[in-house]
Parts: sequence; C-alpha cells; structure tokens
Amino acid sequence: MNPMKLVILPGDGIGPETMAVAVRALEVVAAQHHLPIDLQHDLAGHESLRRHGTTVTPALVDKVRAADGFMLGPMATYDFKDESKGEINPSKFFRKTFDLFANIRPARTYAGIPNFNGEFDLVVVRENTEGFYADRNVESGGSEILVTPDVAISLRRITRECSERVARTAFELAMQRRRRLTLVHKHNVLRITDGLFLDACRRIAAEFPEVQVDDVIVDAMMAHVVRTPQRFDVIVTTNMFGDILSDLTAELSGSLGMGGSLNAGHQHAMGQAAHGTAPDIAGQDIANPFSQVLSLAMMLAWHAQRCGEPAYLRASQDLERAMAECIREGAVTRDIGGRLGTRATGDALINRLKAAH
Ligand code: ATP
Repeated sequence: MNPMKLVILPGDGIGPETMAVAVRALEVVAAQHHLPIDLQHDLAGHESLRRHGTTVTPALVDKVRAADGFMLGPMATYDFKDESKGEINPSKFFRKTFDLFANIRPARTYAGIPNFNGEFDLVVVRENTEGFYADRNVESGGSEILVTPDVAISLRRITRECSERVARTAFELAMQRRRRLTLVHKHNVLRITDGLFLDACRRIAAEFPEVQVDDVIVDAMMAHVVRTPQRFDVIVTTNMFGDILSDLTAELSGSLGMGGSLNAGHQHAMGQAAHGTAPDIAGQDIANPFSQVLSLAMMLAWHAQRCGEPAYLRASQDLERAMAECIREGAVTRDIGGRLGTRATGDALINRLKAAH
C-alpha cells in the first residue's frame, strides 16, 4: 500500500484543540489498520502570519499539491483582509487553487443526543466554486458592485460545467446510500440561473436511473428539513443555499460541533469542520472535537475510494463507530449534553477505539 500523504493545518480559534484530538485518533486507527500514513504538520492562518508573514506560504502550497489530502482547521476569515500584507483567506485560497468543487456536509441524529423530529441521516452537497460568492465567481474585479453609496449589486454565476460536476458527485453519493436525491433551488424566481442548475442536474440524473429524484424550493426546504428531516437522503444545491441549509442541518443533529465536512475536487480533498473559529470558546478546552474527527473520517473514506484501498474505509468507519459510542454513553462535550472537556473527549474516543480492537 502506498503511503497516504496527509497535511495537518490546525488553524485558528478552537482549531488547535480539536485538530489535536483528530490527529491522536488518526494515529490510533492508522496503527490498528496498518495504514501507512505520512502525516505532515504545518501551519496556515494566524500562526503562519506571525511566523512567516503570510497566512499561506508558497512552500505550503507545494506541500499540499504533493499530498493526497489535507485537514484545515477553522480559519479567522474576518481577520484576513489585505493580501498585500500576507493576509490570504486560506479556506478560499485552497478551495480555489485546488478546485475543490463539492462541499459535502453530512448531518444525522445520534442515540444520546435529544432530537425533536425523529431520526434522520442526510448529506448536503453544496456547490463550492461559484454562485453568489464574490471571492470565487469572477477571475478579477468584483462581483459585488457599489453603484452609488445607496445602491449595491451582487452577481451570481451558475455554469453548466460546475452544476454538472457537483450533481455527479451527489448522484454517486446517493448510489452508495439510499438512492434518493433532492435538488434544492429557487427556480420560481431565479428562472435562468436555477433553471440552468436544474437542467444540468436532470441531465446527470439520466446517468443514474436507480436514483429517485425530486426537487424542493429552498424556502420550503427550510420547513421540510426541520419538520421531516427523515424524508431526505442526499441534497444537492448551489453555493449559498447549501451554505445556509447545511448549518441548519448540522444544528439539527445537535450542535455545529457535530458538523463534519469535506471539500472535494478531482485531485485533492480538504477536510474542514463546517463551523468557524468559535472565538467565544477558544482556548477553554470545551469545544466539541467531533466535527474535526468526522471531517477526518470523511477524508479517509474519500481516500479509500480514490485509491481502492478498503482499509482506509474501515478506519473511517471505526472512527464514526467510536464517536457514536461516546455520544451514546455521554462521554462528550457540553454542547451535546456532556460534561467532558475537549481533551477528555479525545481520551474517551481513543479508549473506545482501543477497546474495539
Ligand atoms: P467565525 O467568526 O470564525 O465564523 P463564529 O463564532 O462567528 O466564528 P462559529 O465558529 O461557526 O461562528 O460558531 C457559531 C457558534 O457555534 C458559536 O457560539 C460557537 O461557540 C459554537 N460552536 C462552533 N463550533 C463549535 C464546536 N466545535 N463545539 C462547540 N461549539 C461550537
């Protein structure tokens, strides 16, 4: 088995605390499954800015390019405003540089976390490279324009190519799950752009006749996903709708601290928790590390599929199983009803990983 090169970038805010748990857990499952993982520790964000004068060094970009994947901790995006001072927004930079077009964000209920609307298990697949986001939908210039001090315009880019590739990712995922896919849009108002998105998705649907497809308007979706989340399996949508919807679904599963996510392209993948730096709880040993552990599990599953090595998938499943056990037994952080700190939750996770082998 070729070694998997994985770059670890702890990030800002709660990132170093939660990433430390994910790395400890990774070392355990790697040993248990004899996975040759070449872990490369580096820096991005504030710590890199302090040490190297930039949030992302050229050497780091080369390292990530040569790697199979990388784990990026949360980034203090709002602090990074002036690229001429080295303040590159790492999340945006990596997404763009490595064309990480599909942001995959699972959400599910767990025994041990109270839920109000029954059990569910769904995945939001969010287009990650265009849409309304001014930082990624134009090559140069801005897609947000201040016409006069009192008039502002925001442009939204939707292309057939980007819609088709994210749709294909979603259909492939649906094939591995319950074979249901929901297209989320606002076609009643955004007739041209969401019309194009829907048309692109339906063309890809023709390649996956086993997948049952429906579509829901985004505002109605907010009600449906809160009221009957079990109705959904895989959901695919454009960038901003996916951003908002996936925070809601992460919260429905108990806490943003359960929001694992993978940003996947054809060649690279970046595991990054769906939440931000959580400055209100940073450095206090109370952040939930499971969003980071889940992101790592997704990274291992992605790698397993990419290189055809099922041992990585087994390691990923072990991580998820051990996490579910911790949750069932209440060995968790306070955001999901436990009393443990971040580090102690890591200890609990590792104990369960070891006990299972
Ligand atoms: P940023 O400015 O980086 O986006 P934020 O605080 O505005 O940070 P989030 O980091 O997404 O946004 O946090 C939103 C809320 O969710 C905060 O109250 C935060 O404490 C909580 N939260 C986020 N991540 C976790 C976590 N891993 N564990 C527990 N609570 C979390």
